[in-house]
Amino acid sequence: MVLLWFGLLVTMLGAGAKRILIVDWDVHHGNGTQEIFDGSKTVLYISLHRHEGGKFYPGTGAAHEVGSMGAEGYCVNVPWSRGGVGDNDYLFAFQHVVLPIASEFSPDFTIISAGFDAARGDPLGCCDVTPSGFAQMTHALTALSGGKLLVILEGGYNLRSISSSATAVIKVLLGESPGCEGENVVPSKSGLLTVLEVLKIQMKFWPTLEPVLAKLQSQWGACAFPNRSECNPILLIFPAMHTILLVKSVWSNLVVPV
Ligand SMILES: [Zn+2]
Repeated sequence: MVLLWFGLLVTMLGAGAKRILIVDWDVHHGNGTQEIFDGSKTVLYISLHRHEGGKFYPGTGAAHEVGSMGAEGYCVNVPWSRGGVGDNDYLFAFQHVVLPIASEFSPDFTIISAGFDAARGDPLGCCDVTPSGFAQMTHALTALSGGKLLVILEGGYNLRSISSSATAVIKVLLGESPGCEGENVVPSKSGLLTVLEVLKIQMKFWPTLEPVLAKLQSQWGACAFPNRSECNPILLIFPAMHTILLVKSVWSNLVVPV
């Protein structure tokens, strides 16, 4: 994987890319990827993963890990505090953390590190992201860098979950609508708390997050403090190869399985 990242980086920089965004939705924190690009302002690394205070493998990826050596803020970790995290929390984090930061960064190439072990039915990840959720996240990222999007399938532990999730992503790459625009996504209480934690840390580096945090605090204040009643998440109901490299470039309309 290390060689792959270096190869991709060299290729993209050679092609003129100056800012590369990596979004990692594998259920495990990408500690290797984070370490490789630590200290670089060329690469913005955003990871959403189970963390549980460091108890979930590999234990890294806390929200306060933000990058170093002058590149603070170029590492963004969204560390879920529990298993079972589903579409709503992922899409909520996308809307309030991933997309605002990514838009300010303005990448000219985006890479999705697409492990599907956060998918519904995965016995190891034990999360609940549906094919529709993956499709919506892919769709949201497609527009960021003019459609210059590379999706790398890292794997997963349930072949059915992998195939249905990867199919949903590929359909979006081929131009299909993700089917549902979750504009009013309601997070779980733990998901909300994670997003608020990340916003408070990352707003020091990304000013665009200040109004986002203020809005969420006024909107969800009662849910963000202990000993108050639980948020009442609205559940969105959607219809429900280990190593494949999928390359998508909108300008050439090409999908290449390797
Ligand atoms: Zn994983």
